[in-house]
Amino acid sequence: MFNKKLVEGLGKSSMIRAMFEEGARLKKIYGDDKVYDFSLGNPEVEPPAEVIDTLKKYVNSGEEGLHKYMNNAGFPDVRQKVAAYLQEKSGVSLDENNIIMVCGAAAGLNVALKALLNPGEEVIVLAPFFVEYGTYIEQAGGKAVIVNTIKDSFQIDVDAVEEAITDKTKAIIINSPNNPTGVIYDRESLERLNKVLEKKEAELGISIFVISDEPYVSLVYDGIEVPSTLSVFKKSISINSFSKSLALPGERIGYIAASSRIPEVETLISVMITLNRTLGFVNAPSLFQKVIADNLEVAVDTESYKKKRDLLYNHLTKIGFKCIKPDGAFYLFVKAPIEDDIAFCKAAAKYNLLLVPGSGFKGPGYVRIAYCTDIKMIERSLEAFTKLAQEYGLS
Ligand code: PLP
Repeated sequence: MFNKKLVEGLGKSSMIRAMFEEGARLKKIYGDDKVYDFSLGNPEVEPPAEVIDTLKKYVNSGEEGLHKYMNNAGFPDVRQKVAAYLQEKSGVSLDENNIIMVCGAAAGLNVALKALLNPGEEVIVLAPFFVEYGTYIEQAGGKAVIVNTIKDSFQIDVDAVEEAITDKTKAIIINSPNNPTGVIYDRESLERLNKVLEKKEAELGISIFVISDEPYVSLVYDGIEVPSTLSVFKKSISINSFSKSLALPGERIGYIAASSRIPEVETLISVMITLNRTLGFVNAPSLFQKVIADNLEVAVDTESYKKKRDLLYNHLTKIGFKCIKPDGAFYLFVKAPIEDDIAFCKAAAKYNLLLVPGSGFKGPGYVRIAYCTDIKMIERSLEAFTKLAQEYGLS
């Protein structure tokens, strides 16, 4: 009766939600401070003070026209500031006509995929990946082709990508720093990927677009480089949001930047602007467009996330868990001591630890821990992790 694919997908996509609801159930029984909820990537920190001050400034400014319908791409002055900021970072020439303001990365991805895909065209996604990509691609009429990253390092397996490319390949989605692994794809693999894409384009007579999903690009530790995808890839569509970098997920604000190096980029931009409207987003929230344009250089305090990462990473590895040390985002992707990551999450829940099975991200055998939570909760949780490790004979 309803959309069959979406109904079938309900079970799969709700793992994170299910853990979150389990958390609410456990909190009622044991009390808030006895449940350790690492299930959601919902930043615990408040937006930086500058952001709130800018919001107040605009609310109180009396400026006319702030709340009206507008060009569906967003305010021209905002797009101009975003373009200048990205041009400076990437060295690629950009102006406001390359930028569309959108309702967060989720909207940006849906708009870009629908703009690119004809029925049956393929999009390569690198596993493990943000669980919603599959649905977005399917709803845009495409087919997701899953390519695993390299075992344990989670870097791009460029040879495997090359093998997966067919004459139906239209795009590849990359997400770095990555959800769920926290890994940053290194420059060398991105440049090798670029070479492979160009080679296959010439060989097969196709165009392959790189959709770079970048909500964690400002959440990086120890000065590690996140190479600019706009500068590495010619057919690059960079999608960013302020949900994580400014802790504004409820405000739904982000942008799409389509590289000036894409042939006929004007047509692509026009289609995406139309889709921003017809998919029902219409335009990004006007007040928050203005707010982020004045705060493009601002980010939440990454030192506080780093403290949380180090506390949890050091403890987990000390008690015998295996986990790559993430350079960015706010997730740990920990190897489950048994093959069945869902069973392992159930075992963790006995100690009131709420983790998300890696299989939900097409990364079976692992669990995701979102540490964008209160550090005191992390401190209280350490003993529960120790008990869990002991149950599996790790320590
Ligand atoms: N892409 C990735 C990798 C994410 O982790 C998320 C949210 O967690 C999104 C996109 C969606 O973010 P937004 O709130 O900007 O729509």
